[in-house]
This record gives sequence, structure tokens and C-alpha cells, in this order.
Amino acid sequence: MVETKPEAAVIKQKSPKPLYATVVVTLLTVVLIAIGAALLIPDDSIRIPDWVDEQIIEINGAGRRGVPIEAVNNIAVHYVGNPGTSAQANRNYFNQPTTQVSSHFIVGLDGEIIQCVPLNEKSSATNERNRDTISVEVCHPDKTGQFNEQTYASLVRLCAWLCDTYELEATDLIRHYDVTGKLCPLYYVEHPEAWEQLIQDVANYEE
Ligand SMILES: [Zn+2]
Repeated sequence: MVETKPEAAVIKQKSPKPLYATVVVTLLTVVLIAIGAALLIPDDSIRIPDWVDEQIIEINGAGRRGVPIEAVNNIAVHYVGNPGTSAQANRNYFNQPTTQVSSHFIVGLDGEIIQCVPLNEKSSATNERNRDTISVEVCHPDKTGQFNEQTYASLVRLCAWLCDTYELEATDLIRHYDVTGKLCPLYYVEHPEAWEQLIQDVANYEE
């Protein structure tokens, strides 16, 4: 039989950690978390091209919550679904306190591009993919949802710039439909060959 020593006899009282050590460890942890967050979240130092009209909407609740985007893995294309409306009208709608949707960009009927949400924040356009997509809403003249020539040209230019900026491929463009099955952007769901053409045009675009 082995005789065991009574444990109580060998346990010594640990001396309490000095307070300053705790403070230093806490501060270091905070600094490391901040550095980690800064590295993970795409920053807003991306220079927006001068052909984009920056009209950032107010932080207003569900439309723009001011929540950081987690990553940028795809570019999500939408259609506004309201024929003949301008980019400005849609941007102003996003800016209303009661509106629960928003997109990073809107491409208008004259080819104008308005930015509504900072690139380092989530927009409210693409459901569960708001966390890792940049969203582009596109205006259209009629209910078929087909984009006109100027609008299409600006959309291609914007998507090519976004792909370049985030080191994505044109094949990283997705439709809202690819996320939720919603018929958005309508024409490019009903005409998959037109969607494939858009991807091709973005891939071939040269500034
Ligand atoms: Zn959509």
C-alpha cells in the first residue's frame, strides 16, 4: 500500500497578482483585438472614383445600421423593381427613417452612380449575404427589368472597379436570385444568357 501525504499540508497560499500586471494584460488584449479588427474589416480608405456621386444616407435603423461588413466575397446585383424611377429618388427613399432597405450603390437611367452606404458597412439588400457582399441596385425604364444602354455601361464599369478593388473575378458577381430565389434582377433571371453576357462584359472591361 502507498501512503499518501495529506494534500493540505503542501498547498501554499498563492500570492495575489500585482494590480499593474492585470492592467497591462487587459490593455494589451484590447490593443490586439483592435489591431485584429482593423485587419479583418476592409477599411474605408478605398478611394471612391470621381464618377461615383457619394451621398451617404443617415444611420437610420434598418436601412443603414452602421454595422461593419465582415468580408467582401461577392458583388450582388439587384434591380429597383420600380420602373422609370431615378437613382436619386431611390437614394432618397433609402434615406427615409422608415425605410428598411439600402444598397451600397444605385446605378441610374442616365448612367449616373450614387453611393449610399460606406464600403466598410453592411447594406440591407441581400438578406443573409449582407454580411459579405457589396450591393448594387440598378434602375430600369420598364417592367421587363432590362437595363438601358447607359445604365448597363455604368454597371459594367462599377462592377469591374469593384472586382479590381476587392481582387474578385467577374464570376464573383451574383444576382439577388442566387441568394434567395427572388426574381431580382428580373430580366437577368429570366434571361440567363444576358446575365452571362454581363459577366463577360465585366471580365473584358478595361478602364
Ligand atoms: Zn434584389
